[in-house]
Amino acid sequence: MPTLAVADPGTERRRLIEPSQLHVPGAAVLIALLVLLVVMVVRRHNSEHAYLAEINERRDRLKLALWATGERYWDYDVGSGQLRRLLEDEPNGDGRLLEDSLPVDELVHPDDMALARETLRRYLDGESGRYQAQVRVADGTGGWAWVRVRGRAVERDDDGNVLRIAGTALNVSATREAERERQIAATVLRSMGEAVAVMDADFRYVSVNPAFLRMTGYTETEVLGRSASLLDSEQNDSAFYRRIRTQAGRQDHWSGELWQRRKDGDELLTALELRTVRDADDDSVLHVCVFNDITQQKRTEQELRYLANFDTLTSLPNRSLLSERLSRAIVRAHREDTRLAVLFLDLDRFKDINDSLGHAAGDRILRAAAVRLQQTVGEQHTVARLGGDEFTVVLEDLETPDDAERIAREIINAFEAPLLLDDRREVSISPSIGISLYPDHAQVPTELLKQADTAMYQAKAAGRRTFMRYNDNMDLAVRQRATISGALRKVLDRGELRLVFQPRLSLSPPRITGVEALLRWSSPEHGDIPPAEFIPIAEESGLILEIGEWVLREACLVLQRWRQHGMDALNVSVNVSVLQLLRGDFVGVVGRVLDDVGIPPHLLELELTESVLMANAEQTAERLQAFRALGVSLAIDDFGTGYSSLAYLKRLPITTIKIDKAFVDGLPHDAEDAAITPTIVAMAHSLGLRVVAEGVETQAQMRFLAERGCDEIQGFWLSPPLDALQCLAFMRNWRPDGLLLARDAPLAVLP
Ligand code: C2E
Ligand code: MG
Ligand code: MG
Repeated sequence: MPTLAVADPGTERRRLIEPSQLHVPGAAVLIALLVLLVVMVVRRHNSEHAYLAEINERRDRLKLALWATGERYWDYDVGSGQLRRLLEDEPNGDGRLLEDSLPVDELVHPDDMALARETLRRYLDGESGRYQAQVRVADGTGGWAWVRVRGRAVERDDDGNVLRIAGTALNVSATREAERERQIAATVLRSMGEAVAVMDADFRYVSVNPAFLRMTGYTETEVLGRSASLLDSEQNDSAFYRRIRTQAGRQDHWSGELWQRRKDGDELLTALELRTVRDADDDSVLHVCVFNDITQQKRTEQELRYLANFDTLTSLPNRSLLSERLSRAIVRAHREDTRLAVLFLDLDRFKDINDSLGHAAGDRILRAAAVRLQQTVGEQHTVARLGGDEFTVVLEDLETPDDAERIAREIINAFEAPLLLDDRREVSISPSIGISLYPDHAQVPTELLKQADTAMYQAKAAGRRTFMRYNDNMDLAVRQRATISGALRKVLDRGELRLVFQPRLSLSPPRITGVEALLRWSSPEHGDIPPAEFIPIAEESGLILEIGEWVLREACLVLQRWRQHGMDALNVSVNVSVLQLLRGDFVGVVGRVLDDVGIPPHLLELELTESVLMANAEQTAERLQAFRALGVSLAIDDFGTGYSSLAYLKRLPITTIKIDKAFVDGLPHDAEDAAITPTIVAMAHSLGLRVVAEGVETQAQMRFLAERGCDEIQGFWLSPPLDALQCLAFMRNWRPDGLLLARDAPLAVLP
């Protein structure tokens, strides 16, 4: 067995004494010396033997001691590549440990061989002071164990080349695994999006991760050692947070949503999970808290829920929430045997206002209308917006059907006062309301809504700003409307439209100055349909643009024919719908038609209804100015039925005002009409406008108006609308003298 140097074997050298190195002078001396030598050799042998035995014993003890600490002794023969090592087994009976000897490449994992060799090379070349590496070695059971190997040269040749290396090996598989897991855990914690905090038994922060610092806005030094109550929000009282901590402490777990407060005071909604970790060995406790910032997510959820149920413009329930509430109301009414009403409400001429005032103002009107509506019916009733300018009210617990009508009337009255758009602007708008009742009309929400809608259309047809209760005949009317709308599409191709003309009489001096062209539709299937019925349908479908252009051209053609019969000072008035004014190039159309037909522009007057003009004076004024530039006259039709004031109209480049028949009807006896009409005349004159009174049916009305300075009249007293030929004949034969005196009763309407 080779010599083992324990302390520093690298510097020790083995020196054997060779006998040939000795010289002796005489035989006796030689013998004596030989004897002495033998004695010395024997003694030396004995002492060497004892010495070696002691060393061996020490070495075995050392190996055992090492074995006991988990370290394994090994030694490696550089020349043969053979590695001798102690096995991990228990020592045998005489206290000796088992050993084996293998070529090193059979022992070390192939993947780690390169590392083992390189480390060895560096050590042998003197680049490192000792051999040290971590490699996998066969564990004897077919697996691999990570070992940390350390060693140094224990034998060198005379040139100092290392012959053998000896050292220890320690199985580090378990610590290596643990360290690896610790490193992974640390990396995960660092890179986690969730905030993680570890707290001691008293809920004081022991450790936090970067996400925690990011979410709370604190630095590590500001939180470590501080109580978790540092983050308590004001959304809950402190008892609430204490309760959670007590519960987590008792049940080792708490999870839920929790408001917390950032350093900058901002509130943070967190989804939080708290777990208690107890050490098995001692009683020490740690609380691990993991949380996520879900403030934004919650906000988005709430917004989505809100969007799904509420109208964003008015904040009223939308169609889907209305259906839900209506269904529940029906169930309640059924159970309690009560009655409920659905009010379907549509703002009159909202589209015109929206088109002319602009959408921003339209939105403000809708918001203001929503507020007015809810205030009128009270918070206890559901008010919903179905879209556009359509609103629905659900009235529960009605005593009688009349209650619904009473509330509908209250709503209409409430809209008499103008809506405030902003500091400066006010707009008046009226609703038309349809009413359906449970259980009288229908049993299910969709039917009730449909019937209320139908009734609302009837309210519109009845002149707007009113309400109607549903009845079965209405469905018929709605169907008719649909057929009319279908038939209207073919009306121009089939030549079913024609114009009639109603003369206008100038009062001083008495003279027929012009005619108003009025549209007539005679349908072979549906008979004569009055304009009040089909014009709104034509407006809805946009057909009015085509129809309107036809009317304009036809009226000009008729006027041109009359002019050729000598009526060359005659004017023609043509009614224009808001759609024509706002869409497309109507100015261009008018200019072209006048040109084509050869009518001087000053002979054409366009009639626009008041509601069209009142909405947006500025924008409309621009368009109207273009007509004035063309030389065309402009009249306000049905004056007094809208909400415009004369002062307001002053800003518009109009030339004529046509007082609505409603203000003429009561003349001369109705005090109100008798006061209003002369006022309109006087004010219009002060603005330089001509005044025409419409719907004059009696001589008394004519006289009253003539005496108050009204410029012109139009109405059945003079003549009903006539077809072109009859009208020409009427105008030619008309004489001022007889007419002004004779008739007191309206003329029979001529065919
Ligand atoms: P409007 O422009 O105010 O026309 C006057 C309406 O009053 C006409 O009804 C006329 O027949 C009627 N009327 C005239 N004098 C009297 C009278 O003394 N007593 C009574 N009770 N009624 C009288 P019509 O022809 O049914 O027209 C209704 C409305 O339809 C018109 O009112 C006008 O706004 C619209 N309209 C007619 N033709 C056209 C058209 O070509 N285009 C457009 N956009 N609208 C038209
Ligand atoms: Mg008119
Ligand atoms: Mg009119």
